[in-house]
Amino acid sequence: MLCANSIDSAISALFGPSVKVIERQRVSGGDINRAYKLELSSGECAFLKSNRQRLLNMFTTETQGLEALRATGTIGVPEPLVVGADETEAFLIMEYLVPAPRRPDYWEVFGYELAALHRAECGSFFGFPTDNYIGSTPQQNAPMDSWVAFFRERRLIPQMKLAWGLLDDRSRSNLTSITDRLDDLLPEPPFPSLIHGDLWSGNAVCGPDGKAWILDPAAYVGHFEAELAMTELFGGFPERFYRAYNEVNPIDQDYSDRRDLYNLYHLLNHLNLFGLSYLSNVSTIAKRYA
Ligand code: ADP
Repeated sequence: MLCANSIDSAISALFGPSVKVIERQRVSGGDINRAYKLELSSGECAFLKSNRQRLLNMFTTETQGLEALRATGTIGVPEPLVVGADETEAFLIMEYLVPAPRRPDYWEVFGYELAALHRAECGSFFGFPTDNYIGSTPQQNAPMDSWVAFFRERRLIPQMKLAWGLLDDRSRSNLTSITDRLDDLLPEPPFPSLIHGDLWSGNAVCGPDGKAWILDPAAYVGHFEAELAMTELFGGFPERFYRAYNEVNPIDQDYSDRRDLYNLYHLLNHLNLFGLSYLSNVSTIAKRYA
């Protein structure tokens, strides 16, 4: 992975000394960063994300997540090319995914490939070599050998601490009861899975091959059910995606009882990042599992 101290020097190092950016087109869709398609004098394109200089570590950890997912060779993930910072901004440049029409079996192939990612060999611990971010919230990844303990210590409790001042007394006590009883509420997975970690529909796009490519990860080794739960959080993917997934990596019949509990992590994070409109969701789910 290259490091660079300006976007222009990064482009020359990657694409050739005489290659320049001729146009920067703003791309919408991201929640956190500014995103651009870069058109280069060589006729090639690259994808640029930028943010304040002090957020360089967000791009470094995103790169580590992209590389870990790519290394499984199971599903499309854009190649990170360079991370760096100049006097004003931090940036990440990656492979630009040229949009193409979806294959007719787009959702089935997405299901097969995500299931293959979840079955890829990834060691025996839950966590990731470095801490990273979920949105812009720090996400702790120090490894543990129990998934349930990991989900309690590294996922729910840090978000609960951040949200504490926003919560009413009843929700605080319900959440505390959940973390106390988590061993009774969640099972250990059949095997650890490397997951994307933030797989809502906006973080999958159709790539040049007509298949789904996954973007903007908050990757870690966890339980694949937590990933499936997130895919269902904001609207869900079509039924044929889950049918195909289930052919490669069978989904436990009791998974749907646990789905909202996994999503409590993301809803608490949304409460922390985006404010009180997520409070009633958090309170309702906390009450249900307490
Ligand atoms: P953020 O970190 O702000 O959430 P994303 O990584 O989700 O930003 O990117 C914002 C949008 O840009 C995505 O929803 C997608 O449409 C587009 N995009 C992201 N990565 C690429 C890429 N490598 N090539 C082409 N388009 C991309």
